Amino acid sequence: MNYISHSLEGWSGVSCNTCGSDNQASFNGEVAIHFPGLEGLDKPIVWVFPQILVCVKCGASQFAIPIDELSVLRSQSGLSEVA
Ligand SMILES: [Zn+2]
Repeated sequence: MNYISHSLEGWSGVSCNTCGSDNQASFNGEVAIHFPGLEGLDKPIVWVFPQILVCVKCGASQFAIPIDELSVLRSQSGLSEVA
């Protein structure tokens, strides 16, 4: 399994995957992840506080979910880790 780095160190100097711009900046994020549908109301809200890399040209953004929170998303979705 190739996990995404949870810091943005490896992402500096990388062009935007969507528009190719080099104009990206990192911000401190606070994200509440909700499970979809009515059944999602019975599942936990997963909070993550990632660094978010934002393309200031087109708005495309990316961040990595820490492994513990990723495990919750996986198990509550009934999904297993993909090799
Ligand atoms: Zn972009």
